[in-house]
Amino acid sequence: MMKVAVFSCKPYDQRTLSEAAVHTPSLALTYFESRLSPETMSLANGFDAIACFVNDNIDRHVIEYLARHGVRAIALRCAGFNNVDLYAAKAANIKVYHVPDYSPTSVAEHAVALIMTLNRKTHRAYHRVKEGNFALEGLLGFNLQSRTIGCIGTGRIGQAFCSIMRGFGCRVLCYDIAPNDALISQGCEYTDLETLYAESDIISLHCPLNASTHHLINSQSLAKMKDGVMIINTSRGALVNAQQAIDALYSGKIGYLGLDVYEQENAIFFEDMSSNIIHDSVFQLMLTFPNVVVTGHQGYFTQEALDHIAATTLENLTHFEED
Ligand code: NAD
Repeated sequence: MMKVAVFSCKPYDQRTLSEAAVHTPSLALTYFESRLSPETMSLANGFDAIACFVNDNIDRHVIEYLARHGVRAIALRCAGFNNVDLYAAKAANIKVYHVPDYSPTSVAEHAVALIMTLNRKTHRAYHRVKEGNFALEGLLGFNLQSRTIGCIGTGRIGQAFCSIMRGFGCRVLCYDIAPNDALISQGCEYTDLETLYAESDIISLHCPLNASTHHLINSQSLAKMKDGVMIINTSRGALVNAQQAIDALYSGKIGYLGLDVYEQENAIFFEDMSSNIIHDSVFQLMLTFPNVVVTGHQGYFTQEALDHIAATTLENLTHFEED
């Protein structure tokens, strides 16, 4: 029997993991809502492995402590490794696993949901109707059919997004440093960034955050876009320069902005949930625009994705046990 401490475990994670664990009787899971950190690492004493999430702090100090107390594997319930000191884990002979692709469809569908909220102004209509106001002034929308969509990054999520938009009858322009032939056969067109900027009515970001994509959406790139362009970001906040996006909202260059992620969101993940972000003045200003819709990094958050994360995490731990 392998004993596993599950950190940062919300009630929905616990429910999904316990249902999946019925099929892995050799794993004994203990659930902790606490985030793993130097303050909470003693909770892992006596466990063979831990299962963690993006907000857990698995730095060198924590890893050395875990190794001294018998932990031999870390199963991340997320795709990225940024919160783990992999060198320290290797040195301590602790194996690290992750869930590489848990929800391309979920995130792609969320990007589409942001587009469809903005193009029909559903967020504003909902509040009006709740107040008994059925007036349509200011709610004029536009069809997606025949519009040009620009997709930057056509990996797992971008590909799912492009397929959906083709289904709406859109022209889909793609940009990626490694084009995907499957999308060309679906009628999508690869192009350079300049053309994508110039011709797209809606631009959706699905590339990773790295040195070449940091602040990809800034005043220079926005200047090359159509007036009133819609920008959607479900990838990583710092792909968009938030202050310059606000300037473009004031000038009307950006007509619609849909964000599931934003630059300052680490404040949510790495500090207390109630902290910095809601006091951030740029973020607050963004929320005042009627043509901006913001969600709280929920793109992945579907039952299907949670089921996949739970099943892969338990599979990883079982492989480790069998090795
Ligand atoms: P992926 O690795 O499958 O695809 C990324 C694509 O971006 C690749 O095709 C790659 O070639 C391309 N790319 C890399 N650098 C580029 C550049 N400079 N310009 C253009 N394209 C570039 O990744 P994915 O699983 O599709 O995830 C995409 C993004 O979505 C990631 O940033 C990830 O962090 C984010 N994400 C968000 C959520 C959420 O809940 N909102 C959930 C999961 C992933």
